Amino acid sequence: LHPRTELSRESIFAQMSRLAAEHGAINLGQGFPSNPPPPFLLEAARRAIGTVDQYTPPIGLPQLREAVAEDLGVSPQEVIITAGGTEALHALAEALYGPGDEVVLLEPYFDVYIPQARMAGAEPVMVPMRLTDRWEVDLSALEQAITPRTKALLLTNPYNPTGSVLSRTEAEQIVALARRHDLWIISDEVYDELYFAEPPISLRELAPERVFTVGSAGKRLEATGWRIGWILTPPGLAPQVAGMRQWSSFCSAAPLQAAVAEALPVARREGFYEALRQGYKARRDLLESGLKSLGLKTFSPAGTYFLTALLPGLEAEALVREAKVAAIPGSAFYIQNPAPKGLFRFAFCKTEAEIEQALERLEGYL
Ligand code: GLN
Repeated sequence: LHPRTELSRESIFAQMSRLAAEHGAINLGQGFPSNPPPPFLLEAARRAIGTVDQYTPPIGLPQLREAVAEDLGVSPQEVIITAGGTEALHALAEALYGPGDEVVLLEPYFDVYIPQARMAGAEPVMVPMRLTDRWEVDLSALEQAITPRTKALLLTNPYNPTGSVLSRTEAEQIVALARRHDLWIISDEVYDELYFAEPPISLRELAPERVFTVGSAGKRLEATGWRIGWILTPPGLAPQVAGMRQWSSFCSAAPLQAAVAEALPVARREGFYEALRQGYKARRDLLESGLKSLGLKTFSPAGTYFLTALLPGLEAEALVREAKVAAIPGSAFYIQNPAPKGLFRFAFCKTEAEIEQALERLEGYL
């Protein structure tokens, strides 16, 4: 095998889910919802199987490209359907950078960004976020990390794992910086409908000519295993980027594309996202107040279904084995800079009963 299979090691998310199953732990590690997807999505899929079963164009099923475009207010010509946000990010890495290039991203970071950059031959350059009472982007550190080799800035908004959401000022400053240095921006916005205060700004609105946006039906519609995501490209670039995925998956699952195409307008019309946010806000508050009452420091997320907290002196594997609660250790989100001591990420896309039980177990353990 090629030495690059070094990248094949088990991800922290898979590892914590495996350990949680082995030890009968409550899994607040890997972010996937305990609740089932909405019935309107499942019914649409049942109708599509047996009807829409053959290859779609690599760029995506036309009615799904249109539904995404309609939902996000862009032209369908600028939409590519992918096998989840992960393949979207991979296709972008392949299309945008190569050996000798650098891509600047923030730490803590979401795991797929690094192996994908390396597989394309590029080097990730990590800029730590500032952690005070909240997570903040250090704009001057971000600018200092840029070199003549930098091709792109890769950002997540709302941000996994911190749950932070860029303010308008931060978003404008980041876009201005990308303009000054003529960089692409890859904006991973898979949690775009999961926010608890102001709706997040889509970076594309500020610089449509240089922003690639990544989105996810799995995240929006609580079906993370369906692997339906999308890319919004700057005008004119979709065919070439979509062409790259001809050589991997060719296209995403056809009937699931058809089902998502039906479901996106229903979700919007019927207030599905408002209900989703309400449910998650309640579960965020439950988890956060529970952790606080155990005397732990928490960093309240403004978006996503993740909450970061400090559990000094604790170790993730011991937590799974002894407390029977799985969470992701903060160190998993850092590769170049030191992780804050005792940092953990908890997923609250689980049932209230699971969250309550996890809190009880932590109380007994701490
Ligand atoms: N996005 C999810 C998380 O952050 C799942 C990650 C994964 O399994 N690759 O937990």
